[in-house]
Amino acid sequence: MTTTLDPDLTDETAPDRVVTAMRAALPCIGLDDSPATLAAHRTDRSAMPGDPDPLVLARPASTKQVSALLAYANAHRIPVVPQGTLTGVAGAASTISGAILLDLTAMDAIIRIDADDMIAVAQPGVIVADLAAAAAKQGLFYAPDPASAQIATLGGNVATNAGGMRCIKYGVTRESVRSLEVVLADGTVMRTRPSTIKTVGGLDLTGLIVGSEGTLAVVTEITVKLLPAPGPERGVLGLFPTVAQGLSATNRIAAGPRTPARLEFMDGRCLEAIRKHIPDAPVPAEANAWALAVTDARDGAEEDLASFEKIFADAGATTVQRADNAEELEAILEARRQLQPSARGLLGGSVEGDIAVPRSALAEFSARVAEVENDYDVTIALGGHVGDGNLHPIVAFTPAEGARERADEAVMTLSRLAQEMGGTMSGEHGVGLEKLPALATEMAPAALDLQRRIKGLFDPNGILNPGKKY
Ligand SMILES: Cc1cc2nc3c(=O)[nH]c(=O)nc-3n(C[C@H](O)[C@H](O)[C@H](O)COP(=O)(O)OP(=O)(O)OC[C@H]3O[C@@H](n4cnc5c(N)ncnc54)[C@H](O)[C@@H]3O)c2cc1C
Repeated sequence: MTTTLDPDLTDETAPDRVVTAMRAALPCIGLDDSPATLAAHRTDRSAMPGDPDPLVLARPASTKQVSALLAYANAHRIPVVPQGTLTGVAGAASTISGAILLDLTAMDAIIRIDADDMIAVAQPGVIVADLAAAAAKQGLFYAPDPASAQIATLGGNVATNAGGMRCIKYGVTRESVRSLEVVLADGTVMRTRPSTIKTVGGLDLTGLIVGSEGTLAVVTEITVKLLPAPGPERGVLGLFPTVAQGLSATNRIAAGPRTPARLEFMDGRCLEAIRKHIPDAPVPAEANAWALAVTDARDGAEEDLASFEKIFADAGATTVQRADNAEELEAILEARRQLQPSARGLLGGSVEGDIAVPRSALAEFSARVAEVENDYDVTIALGGHVGDGNLHPIVAFTPAEGARERADEAVMTLSRLAQEMGGTMSGEHGVGLEKLPALATEMAPAALDLQRRIKGLFDPNGILNPGKKY
């Protein structure tokens, strides 16, 4: 869907004129068109650079201001790119030519935490870890835990339906979102549903907007469910001679009655990358596969740990080691969180995939990775949230003419491989700009067409983050 500026506002001095007109029409909203600000907001953490010439950055302080701004943008056909803290990795928040960059980070209030109804209500600019910490102070638990929780916004997590390490037990962000206040493209402010646990009134608009990457509506207030605080986390680490043995163990744990709070996996290449990047990381002896199963059960934690240990040993682990206290486990988790930056340093360049397959296909997917390495002359480190069947293949390459293009093609081939196995090219990072080419081979034409028509209903003039997601 393309968007063109109102002809009345387009001549060679158009950007200045448009911003001047916006300042006059919206005097209360902070608008910043300094080159330094626009450059700082040009792209997220993906390799998608974004267009060099956005119009202006707007930093609203309230839902009312977001509403006024969208009504103005819609009337003048100005594209709008919602932005959180730009930690996304798919280019979903990257700039668009002539667009208003809608920075929601100033709307950062935790409005209330209700211990009786076990919900929290917060604005979109709240940092995810801050919300979790505020809930914890009241003995409650906000479950979603992406590795970027310390730097990403709640609005960004909602818009990307962020995952992370605790999804095997608690689900992705969507499972924790009760209700949203959103502003539609024409400025209409709307609540998607009551914040009750149950409602069957109407279609699930909340579910539709979660994960829509800023293309259907701007999220201005989020009500999330909270849980009773879990028990302290403890874990078991297993090292295996082969990837197949490691994955057979994690699949047995995932399919068993003792659901772990985290179930993570890394292959030997990941371990090598982490050791190289952080020499004192707690990544023990050399191994071809590393698996971590964590329990946070209030009752039965000891039985969980014993069960994980037995499954690891039965699958042929050479090392089975407990992480029995918080510091020990946190050090291991932190090493796992450092996988992406570590793998980047393996050969000098890297591109990251985000495939998800049914867990039963994980071993076959891993076995096929060697072919892709040979075909594209790249090195692939394989790690991720195996409990969800979600792997982040990191395609590493030595920077040279054509190497980056080969790595991109390798990621595309891995995405297709996942799709052939009944999976997806993106388990949690979103489509944005980066994964758009892989979408056409994943969704049925009728489903793609229906999605675009839904987008047209929400946003008839195509002003919200056009060119992304579909
Ligand atoms: C070190 C690191 C670790 C990461 N780990 C994980 C992980 O474990 N799991 C995971 O899923 N992701 C992970 N990510 C990716 C990223 O953090 C998530 O996608 C996150 O949800 C993005 O939040 P943000 O505030 O940075 O949003 P941005 O990147 O600014 O925006 C992301 C998308 O959300 C839209 N958007 C933002 N705010 C709003 C709003 N209020 N209303 C409507 N649309 C909005 C934007 O338009 C864009 O489409 C990681 C990233 C990094 C850098």
